[in-house]
Amino acid sequence: MELFDTHAHLDFTRFDQDRDEVLKRAREAGVINILTVGADINSSRRAVELAEGTPGLAAAVGLHPHDASDFTPDTARELKKLAGREVVKALGETGLDFYYDNSPREQQEQAFRSQLRLAARLELPVIIHSREAEEETLKILQEEGAGLAGVVHCYSSSSGMAKRLVEFGFHLGFTGLITFRKLGWLREIVSQTPPEKILLETDCPYMAPEPKRGKRNEPAYVKYVAETAANCLNLPVEKVAELTTANGQQLFALEDYSRLED
Ligand SMILES: [Zn+2]
Ligand SMILES: [Zn+2]
Repeated sequence: MELFDTHAHLDFTRFDQDRDEVLKRAREAGVINILTVGADINSSRRAVELAEGTPGLAAAVGLHPHDASDFTPDTARELKKLAGREVVKALGETGLDFYYDNSPREQQEQAFRSQLRLAARLELPVIIHSREAEEETLKILQEEGAGLAGVVHCYSSSSGMAKRLVEFGFHLGFTGLITFRKLGWLREIVSQTPPEKILLETDCPYMAPEPKRGKRNEPAYVKYVAETAANCLNLPVEKVAELTTANGQQLFALEDYSRLED
């Protein structure tokens, strides 16, 4: 089985003690690629360094909506500079989080718009974080995102939004949330999503799937997400791994990229 964890935060300090072991377990679980995603400028820089030093790892650079109030013209310049590196395959994560509201909404929207424009200019796919902000996310995406490819990651919004995103040409990224017993409505969305639009991810260190719920998450656990997705789609798990890995490699232009090595 060959899996692709399309959204991990391997640069976070929670992996400092045992990052090599984490990567080893990922390989043993069949993970061949990981996209490690920046959350702010420092995290993006570390993600790039990590990807440059690890075969099979690619990076995304961006500023999370939580930190949107830090977005300045300098941020855009720095992201643009980082995006020039070979291992950078996406812009993000960016988007809107009206659940936590850690940054004022207006600033979240501005930072989101700027990063979408940057992604378009750099011809990179975009990784979108959207929580409690369906209409605003779709509106901004429609205004700024013409021709853009990308994914709404850790999908947990409505089935209506899922349909509209797929119509817009976007992918949906599913995490360990789909394994949670009470979230049958989310598994229903997985079943209804065209398989060619599905990506699998961990969003580690967060969102650990059953049976690891409550623990630190890591890329190896993407296999549990794959198993649940396979049940939803009524397909063998090997087939779902093959399909979703191909989807991710195509979206992030990793078809001829290196793989995690022993
Ligand atoms: Zn996110
Ligand atoms: Zn994330």
